[in-house]
Amino acid sequence: MLTEEIGALGKTLERFGASFHFAPVGMAVISAEPSSLGRFLQVNTAFGRITGCSTEQLLATTFQVITQPDDPAAGSRCLEKAVRGEPWAFQTEKRCVHADGRVAWMLLNTWAVPDAGGPPLCFFSEVHEVTAQMVVQARLDHQSLHDTLTSLPNRALFVDRVTQALERERPGRLDTAVLFLDLDRLRDINDGLGYTAGSQLLVSSARRLSEVLRPNDAVARVGGDEFAILCQNVGSESAAVALAKRALDAIQEPVDLGGEAVSVTASVGVAFASSGSTDALTLLSDSELALRRAKERGAGGHAVFSAEMRSHTMQRIENERALQRALEEGQFRLHYQPMVALDTDKVTAVEALLRWEHPERGMVQPLEFIPLAEETGLITPIGAWVLEEAARQTLSWSSSFPVRPLRVSVNVSGCQFQAALVDTVRNVLARSQIDPGSLCLELTESTVMQDVGEAVATLTALKALGVAIAIDDFGTGYSSLAYLRHFPLDELKIDRSFVDGLGRDPEDTAIVAAVTAMAHALELSVVAEGVETAEQLNRVRVLGCEVAQGYHLARPQHAEAMGQLLAAEEEGAFNASPGVGGRMGSRRSTKDTVVIADDSPDVLLLAEVSLAAAGFEVHTASRGAAAISLVRAVRPSCVVLDVTMPDLSGVEVCRQLRADPSTTGCTIVMLTANELVADKVEAFSAGADDYMLKPFSPRDLVSRVRAAVRRKSRGPLMAAPSHIDIGTG
Ligand code: C2E
Ligand code: CA
Ligand code: CA
Repeated sequence: MLTEEIGALGKTLERFGASFHFAPVGMAVISAEPSSLGRFLQVNTAFGRITGCSTEQLLATTFQVITQPDDPAAGSRCLEKAVRGEPWAFQTEKRCVHADGRVAWMLLNTWAVPDAGGPPLCFFSEVHEVTAQMVVQARLDHQSLHDTLTSLPNRALFVDRVTQALERERPGRLDTAVLFLDLDRLRDINDGLGYTAGSQLLVSSARRLSEVLRPNDAVARVGGDEFAILCQNVGSESAAVALAKRALDAIQEPVDLGGEAVSVTASVGVAFASSGSTDALTLLSDSELALRRAKERGAGGHAVFSAEMRSHTMQRIENERALQRALEEGQFRLHYQPMVALDTDKVTAVEALLRWEHPERGMVQPLEFIPLAEETGLITPIGAWVLEEAARQTLSWSSSFPVRPLRVSVNVSGCQFQAALVDTVRNVLARSQIDPGSLCLELTESTVMQDVGEAVATLTALKALGVAIAIDDFGTGYSSLAYLRHFPLDELKIDRSFVDGLGRDPEDTAIVAAVTAMAHALELSVVAEGVETAEQLNRVRVLGCEVAQGYHLARPQHAEAMGQLLAAEEEGAFNASPGVGGRMGSRRSTKDTVVIADDSPDVLLLAEVSLAAAGFEVHTASRGAAAISLVRAVRPSCVVLDVTMPDLSGVEVCRQLRADPSTTGCTIVMLTANELVADKVEAFSAGADDYMLKPFSPRDLVSRVRAAVRRKSRGPLMAAPSHIDIGTG
């Protein structure tokens, strides 16, 4: 019986031993004796596989020894806790160095095997290898805290590091600074050279920044084109600023982007932690405010944060709220300024000008709040209100003055000028029932030139509604009548800066004359803005403008006053007082001769009219070869050459003129639509004196040619032949 029992027990133990040894998961029995705590008492084959050790090796060592050097303390603590009877089971992840040298990760479930009443009999561990999972996890952890493109820490990790640095701040010491840096032209690079080039630029900037750091500093990529640097133990403000400048210099070094050496600048804001009172996010946002200030001062600079910058931002936020409130609470008003037709001296239109009746500040002028409204996007609802109110007023006037059609012009900001504007205008027209022709939208050139294709579509849709379109402030932007021809326009408003010089500055006279002539050629009517004197009124009349607007005629006024003015005019009391007919601005007595060659008829027309009006004798050619003959015949003081013409390039014409002794004396100005440095170099090495970009304004052209002629007149003068007979084809 006993033998049978012993036999059965032997069988059980054998089965149990075999199951232990051949189990697919690692298993270990570990000593719980205080004198040999952690020693392996039994291990199975799978455990040996995980650790790479033989059973003998494992039985000769302890749990603490085989785990990584930085792990055993924690391991022993777990065991000690278990001995004290604290948790009877625990789960840990531990590393061990596998016999082949690699690090293996183990997931251990360990529990104390209880003994009746006393300390545990032993520990039992069940062990799984989790190296692959841990590697993936580590990669994920890294990814969540690093930027994949540059491998730099990301914003989250940076904030964490700044937090740690701030915890180490020593009272009264200048320890921690954050530098916020932003590339000035990443978008241009992306647009011009492609995203790959943009990415290359970011990677190289990241590398360069890492190279300028001091040992304890850290750099992170915190936004698309933004990097932040954490400086520790700064010591002094100047040390941080010096680092900021080094960073800017490093970025500015030319970088090879797809075979092209490109140099970009960056701007940087610097903020210091004021011991104890700052948290990481505040410090980061302070440095960002300083960056914004640096950018306001121009690209490529630095600024140090000051409390005033924060109050500036708070003020802006407050202003934005106030503007929003103004809209909700109806604090906006429209004033109206008459526009007077110069043939009848009658008010035929008014311009609606926005005012803000501020509860404390009184009447606020548009230039004080429109820029903020534009930046914040509030201009769209404000602009819609302006349209609505102007249309309402127009309807009211049309019933008070039924016999005179009065048009209202409304200013439209660049940011309002989108496809949605068409719907807004359509709704306003539908609701107010005004004649669409009595509404005119004023847009600046820069607004329509932002995206020419889109602008043509939007303007065409607006025109289809029956409203009129005017170009405002003409002469201050691109001033390209050649481009404007593509837009369906009705009116051109010459900026008041030109009207201002009438009678004083011959150049302004020339420009107003030229622009008026060309606008008429495009069948646009011309409004002279800012007419402040009788003399100016007289001159714009003589120069052919159809309409005048300005303080001399009437100031902007509220609707009621405007109504009275219209009523008075009906009774004949208001009159734009036709001035005495005057002669056009003083012409030069001896004319300088200019030859201009360009294959674009628009450019030739613009140049011819504006230069002639400025007192030059102008000859034009549309081909390079014709230009050369023309120059030989008329011996001009100045030659203006388009770089690309169908037969000879401007550069080639320039070269031939310089090679011919009879034509070397003139100054040569090159005209081109592109900004490539190589082209400039080529033009100058062919003998050009100046270089001008298209599109240009009449004012630019006149002043360039003036300068060129002055330069020339210092050299030997050539006699111009008295008779000219050359075709320009
Ligand atoms: P703007 O469109 O060029 O409007 C003409 C500005 O010139 C008005 O200034 C007008 O008061 C002023 N002005 C008129 N005649 C004379 C003159 O003889 N001499 C001088 N020195 N100035 C004269 P205001 O009303 O201050 O408007 C300034 C600018 O604000 C406008 O320039 C326009 O760009 C913008 N603005 C005004 N109302 C609106 C609006 O409802 N929406 C948008 N988006 N912008 C508006
Ligand atoms: Ca305007
Ligand atoms: Ca204007």
